[in-house]
Amino acid sequence: MVELKFKLHLVSCNSVNPDTIFANNETSLHDIEIYGFDYDYTLAFYSSHLHTLIFNIARDILIQEHRYPAGLREYEYIPDFVVRGLHYDVQKALLMKIDAFHYIQLGTVYRGLHPVPDKEVIAMYEGSHVPLEIMSDFYGKSSHGHTMKQFMDIFSLPEMTLLCCVNDYFMKHNIDYEPVHLYKDVKEAIGDVHVKGIMYRAVEADIEKYICYGEQTHAVLRKLSENGKKMFLITNSPFDFVDRGMNYIVGKDWRSLFDVVIVQADKPGFFNDRRKPFRRVTDKGVLLWDRIHHLEKGQIYKQGNLYEFLRLTGWRGSKVLYFGDHIYSDLADLTLKHGWRTGAIIPELRKEIKIMNTPDYVHTMTWLQSLTGLVEQMQVHRDPASQAVVQQWIKEREHMRSRTKDIFNGQFGSLFRTYHNPTYFSRRLSRFADIYMASLSCLLKYDLQHTFFPRRTPLQHESPFWPEQTCVNAMNLPIE
Ligand SMILES: [Mg+2]
Repeated sequence: MVELKFKLHLVSCNSVNPDTIFANNETSLHDIEIYGFDYDYTLAFYSSHLHTLIFNIARDILIQEHRYPAGLREYEYIPDFVVRGLHYDVQKALLMKIDAFHYIQLGTVYRGLHPVPDKEVIAMYEGSHVPLEIMSDFYGKSSHGHTMKQFMDIFSLPEMTLLCCVNDYFMKHNIDYEPVHLYKDVKEAIGDVHVKGIMYRAVEADIEKYICYGEQTHAVLRKLSENGKKMFLITNSPFDFVDRGMNYIVGKDWRSLFDVVIVQADKPGFFNDRRKPFRRVTDKGVLLWDRIHHLEKGQIYKQGNLYEFLRLTGWRGSKVLYFGDHIYSDLADLTLKHGWRTGAIIPELRKEIKIMNTPDYVHTMTWLQSLTGLVEQMQVHRDPASQAVVQQWIKEREHMRSRTKDIFNGQFGSLFRTYHNPTYFSRRLSRFADIYMASLSCLLKYDLQHTFFPRRTPLQHESPFWPEQTCVNAMNLPIE
């Protein structure tokens, strides 16, 4: 009973509302005059049916166009097998999670559909550290002779799963294959699903099956519009597809909400390449040849670049807030080069926060922290009896650590943490996003004067402001 009360108390203290907007950097909506949006997974949120669709079409392209074995048809999409932000070693055909310090999280390295033993991983990488020069480039792409690629896109979940399935098939049937070819072929097949318009046509044909929470996106746009905010859209998707989706989400007059609409923008190139001019597109998709002197409301523009966008609109600096779900393609350049404020849409947050609010998770974390404190404090006692107890605690701590991983995802754990450290994904998120949230609808919970303050979390040398750690650290000092 006492324990139950203790648990409930902890839950009520630690519960986080999944609709909260979190701040990495202080951001006041009072200062924001212009709101910009990406389209896919920002304005339009897709159901899991879309991942199954992408997986199936790409798998069939591999079989039909790249002559992969027909036996691959036995593989169906496995929801929740992978998480976003994983790295893929193209040469070794291994999928893994890497932390903010470039260390592989042992236990999260997969070859095909099966984990690789820690010993083998350590032998292959001469430890668990991955040197900077073989990591992916700034945008997560593999570089330097195809080494590591980071999967940051929500659309990449079926791509990673397909890579794992094909690897699994080849290994199961003892087929000798070149991992670099496999990576390229899967990438091309997934690309074809987008580029050849197969996905666009499928979504347009059955929009209710694929787009969710449209009414909430509509409510956000209406709220911003009623408050006199300017709005714009910059998406890599083609006009027909966006038009069909926005008709469903907002209604036929959706274009009246936006001051500027840019499609097929080719982000992240859009933010860097000054050479591409804007081009006007008619409702029927015809590209016009006139030079663009103004970006007019109600018109549709293709391509272009951010430098030209800034010149034509004058929308510079911190009065602009841009929302996107891709931390690199949507947000990195805006933060680093152009000084717009940025909002990351991270749909996974909702599920992870719900797990973190469960009594089971709270209990496990509390016990894990207590054990860590005990080990830290008692390790200075070198007599055999004390050491035996400490060793037992370390073992238990290992066991608890695995539970805190598996509770999020059996294979790869949380998107945001390896056992203790932030993931590589988290580090990039905190660098490139001023604020982050599970979906745009979180904006409905706040008025447009609200200021988001980051929590002042202690730096490691600031423990005096962290009372329960003070005595632990003080006692931990070796006595001379
Ligand atoms: Mg997107």
